[in-house]
Amino acid sequence: MKILVFDMDGTIADLYGVTDWLKSLQNNDPSPYYNANPLYDMDVLTDLLDALKSLGWRIVVTTWLAKGSNAKYDKMVREAKLAWLNKYHFPYDEIHMVKYGTTKANCTRKHGGFQILVDDNENVRKGWTLGDTIDARHDITEVLLKLISAELQ
Ligand SMILES: [Mg+2]
Repeated sequence: MKILVFDMDGTIADLYGVTDWLKSLQNNDPSPYYNANPLYDMDVLTDLLDALKSLGWRIVVTTWLAKGSNAKYDKMVREAKLAWLNKYHFPYDEIHMVKYGTTKANCTRKHGGFQILVDDNENVRKGWTLGDTIDARHDITEVLLKLISAELQ
């Protein structure tokens, strides 16, 4: 199996660009997760991912909940993240919304195969053991295009 695992915050959703995002999270306010702008033209990104899906790739979202959260706020954040993904028609096959700091490889290790993590966090990428990583601090569309063209060789 070939899997692309996407982070959300700072990778596809510009959470850190939302004014006072940290203060809001510390006050258990989920609104920054709803209001974050996409970091890409989501029609373009969706087209790329749909192409990869048609070439046999599975699209997974693995995202951390807020740091120092609680069960009630986790529920609000889960709703907000799902609403964001659905608003932009992000074509995921599977989603993991897990406690802050969770080793992301633990969420999809069971699938085996070759898994590429797309994440803006260097430490998270360093902890990835299931295949390759894409540094989402840079434009990811070029890398996705290369994946598609590699499949078409
Ligand atoms: Mg991130």
